[in-house]
Amino acid sequence: MIFSKSCCPHGARVKELFSSLGVGYNILDLDKLEDGVSIQEVLAEMTNQKTVPNIFVNKVHVGGCDRTFQAHQSGLLQKLLKEDSAYDYDLIVIGGGSGGLACAKEAAILGKKVMVLDFVVPSPQGTSWGLGGTCVNVGCIPKKLMHQAALLGQALKDSGKFGWDCSHEVKHNWEVMVEAIQNYISSLNWGYRLSLREKAVTYVNSYAEFVEHHTIKATNKKGQETCFTAAKFVLATGERPRYLGIQGDKEYCITSDDLFSLPYCPGKTLVVGASYVALECAGFLAGLGLDVTVMVRSVVLRGFDQDLADRLSAYMEQHGVTFLRKFVPAQIQQLEKGSPGKLKVVAKSTEGPETISGVYNTVLLAIGRDACTRRLGLEKIGVKISDKDGKIPVNDVEQTNVSYVYAVGDILEGKPELTPVAIQAGKLLARRLFGASSEKCDYINVPTTIFTPLEYGCCGLSEEKAIEIHKKENLEVFHSFFWPLEWTLAGRENNTCYAKIICNKLDHDRVIGFHVLGPNAGEITQGFAVAMKCGLTKQLLDDTVGIHPTCGEVFTTLDVTKSSGLDITQKGC
Ligand code: FAD
Ligand code: NAP
Repeated sequence: MIFSKSCCPHGARVKELFSSLGVGYNILDLDKLEDGVSIQEVLAEMTNQKTVPNIFVNKVHVGGCDRTFQAHQSGLLQKLLKEDSAYDYDLIVIGGGSGGLACAKEAAILGKKVMVLDFVVPSPQGTSWGLGGTCVNVGCIPKKLMHQAALLGQALKDSGKFGWDCSHEVKHNWEVMVEAIQNYISSLNWGYRLSLREKAVTYVNSYAEFVEHHTIKATNKKGQETCFTAAKFVLATGERPRYLGIQGDKEYCITSDDLFSLPYCPGKTLVVGASYVALECAGFLAGLGLDVTVMVRSVVLRGFDQDLADRLSAYMEQHGVTFLRKFVPAQIQQLEKGSPGKLKVVAKSTEGPETISGVYNTVLLAIGRDACTRRLGLEKIGVKISDKDGKIPVNDVEQTNVSYVYAVGDILEGKPELTPVAIQAGKLLARRLFGASSEKCDYINVPTTIFTPLEYGCCGLSEEKAIEIHKKENLEVFHSFFWPLEWTLAGRENNTCYAKIICNKLDHDRVIGFHVLGPNAGEITQGFAVAMKCGLTKQLLDDTVGIHPTCGEVFTTLDVTKSSGLDITQKGC
């Protein structure tokens, strides 16, 4: 489809190109139409291109004359001309979470006929939710809001020193918090449905599984089955919490899938696990005033910088969280029913024959998540998954071993399990499949933050990993404590918040690891992650003027190396 003007020489060149390829085309000369100006305005809005000729091939926007010739040279044009119309859809996306929705919407913007299937299998406790996947319903969003609830509690405690009279008893109401968060999530669910409708993406609330090549069976809540076909498929089915596989776990324990909509306050809680989910949940539950114990199988935050992990768990310990280290649950027994009830947990040591037991109102399992790939019928079409954990290996363009099947998000083998990563991968995949792009998702130096009471943000390598890759003698580590100004007046502890960078001496002191433990670590880390993408060096940090008084400014004044062994504790303010 060529939108042009009768006198346009570029339009004529494009016509010649299509004729030479033996391809039939439609042409609209806008200068000959009464509503030509309005059509051109609409085209500009749709494609961000104000000029003519404006070319679409099989509903995909290619661009103007130059872009069309470039696409011809790169082979993309021929690919677009060959697109299959023998299927119901150009693209079917399985999973309406962060990655799936981003991919589906982008493909639709590029003019493709797209379907998204999303279905939430209720948790063993019966919890389920709406469209949007883990992040919106049972992940980042409710987690961050509960984290905020806990931070507000801390702010209330601090506020006395700033002149607020909080001498009357201030209590937290779990039900009010959950209701407000769930209402907000419902509005997001609705927003997602609306945005799919606006982009003409077909949304089906059914469970999808492959039955043969290019064909899936969709089963809805009532058990009704319908089959759909597509030229291409994107798998974005995410993960679900793992269970221990011991007596009583599925009957009596909850997971993060249940916590954020729990209709009653969980009370005294045992959190099993010691990574992101476990520490974040333990952190906000303790911040809301609950008695919280974390059961750690090996170490806290395995894979993260252990220096920071130890400082973080020490802070949580000082702020009321009990850590039971080197224990795993062996049996969960219900002592009393109720909301919450009472559970007895017997745990065994990972180092010897010792067993211990404790009574809790709630046991929250946060022991990792399993990829939702084993009930997708992938074996019917030959898509390989890892035997070990069900993750999907893909090449650098997110393509599985079956050429028309792609995958993004948490189910990918060896990739960070984070919302912005899934979104970026999904969006870029759609652009490569259906647009004129070849940009790949960059999985290196992805920043992240653990939203514990004291947030831990990082980007790049842990000190352990940096030593493993680059050897200790080639690294210089700079570090410092810092005391947020807001903490001084409030009488909160000094020598707790911590900043560390790891530099590669063989590469201009390039910053290859960035770590910060302190308030708003997520906000701080985001900016420094951009700097790292631009090749941040220690010299550039030194040359940067800080913003005073902030926490982030500490990175512009780091002058103590870890190797010097100099004391970094701060005596005054
Ligand atoms: P998901 O968002 O999980 O979406 C997959 C969807 O597919 C789900 O709706 C699922 O029900 C559906 N589905 C599965 N199988 C089928 C099928 N056969 N048919 C139809 N539908 C199916 N990341 C961050 O970046 N920041 C955070 O602060 C953060 N906090 C988190 C907190 C918690 C408690 C958890 C659990 C995760 C958190 N994450 C966070 C991780 C983030 O949520 C995930 O990385 C992200 O949601 C992954 O997106 P996805 O598209 O791969 O899968
Ligand atoms: P995880 O990182 O896989 O950690 C699992 C934890 O459970 C580890 O501490 C592990 O201990 C422990 N564990 C595993 N099996 C156990 C068992 N049988 N008994 C006792 N403990 C056991 O899982 P996660 O915390 O669920 O996080 C999943 C992903 O979600 C993360 O990779 C992250 O990308 C994403 N996420 C991100 C955020 C964020 O961005 N803020 C927040 C939450 C989640 P060992 O170390 O001994 O194996």
